[in-house]
Amino acid sequence: MQILNGKEASQAIKDSLKLEVAQLSTNGKTVPHLVAVLVGNNGASETYVAAKVKACEEVGFKSTLIHFEEEVSSLKLLDKIRDLNTDPDVDGILVQLPLPQHISAEEVINTIDPSKDVDGFHPSTVGKMVLGHPTFIPATPYGILLLLEHYKIETKGKHAVIIGRSNIVGRPMSILLSASANPGNCTVTICHSHTKNLNEFAASADILIAALGKPGFVKEDMVKQGAVVIDVGITRVLDASKKSGYSIQGDVAFEEVAPKCSFITPVPGGVGPMTIAALMKNTFKACSVKHFE
Ligand code: NAD
Repeated sequence: MQILNGKEASQAIKDSLKLEVAQLSTNGKTVPHLVAVLVGNNGASETYVAAKVKACEEVGFKSTLIHFEEEVSSLKLLDKIRDLNTDPDVDGILVQLPLPQHISAEEVINTIDPSKDVDGFHPSTVGKMVLGHPTFIPATPYGILLLLEHYKIETKGKHAVIIGRSNIVGRPMSILLSASANPGNCTVTICHSHTKNLNEFAASADILIAALGKPGFVKEDMVKQGAVVIDVGITRVLDASKKSGYSIQGDVAFEEVAPKCSFITPVPGGVGPMTIAALMKNTFKACSVKHFE
């Protein structure tokens, strides 16, 4: 069993981006600029956005964090996004989800200029991804592809089972792994909350991706010997033994599942850092397309 170390793989990606950014600076060219928009005071969201801003600093991108109070009106938020859309100094825009109930995430996503949609959630971005046209790939599925690539894991002809069908993880993952690409060329099964016999599907997977947000959901008897297991889940669980008062748990019961796997991601330190590295790659791409192509 080998650990798919997302910290290491993401560091390699960030190191290579850092060199490319340094080259841009040396040549007097503009460096990528990511703007992150955060609404409210959700602790997890604040942590994610801070990690994204830190990653920008690490690779030499410019970054701006715009923090609105929870009560911000939808109108004000959408106006800000329109300003960012037309600001030539801004390459990528991300709005951290979830948003407060009074704001429609769909409307917000639809307002982002697709050429700056580095999270890859805009319908036009998703459409291009489905068709296999060049575009931004949503950061978490993209991070998983990069992780598979980093560890040279063969996907062609494999049976990939994905648990979870959200628009940001499960569904795009199913499309990407079934595409005629590398990584890709899998036969894909997508399971969700209405799937019957989920355990049997899971146990037939060569590559099992758990993205449902239920700590420890995937047990040892749901995993085939030698499977590759990717745990996307991140759930904060109350834990009095931790200084923060909580621990982060994945969707896979790691201790019992790991001995059966050929490869497995830990939580934390697996998919999470890869998601951020993928976002950095998308931001670099947005800048390159705008300024240098
Ligand atoms: P979501 O709540 O939008 O979707 C969950 C999906 O799981 C749904 O499609 C649902 O049908 C399915 N599901 C729920 N219960 C199920 C069950 N009992 N059996 C089968 N399917 C079931 O979640 P999401 O946004 O896709 O996120 C999933 C998890 O991944 C969460 O823990 C989230 O925090 C984490 N996440 C991690 C990263 C990362 O960078 N590592 C990024 C995004 C999301």
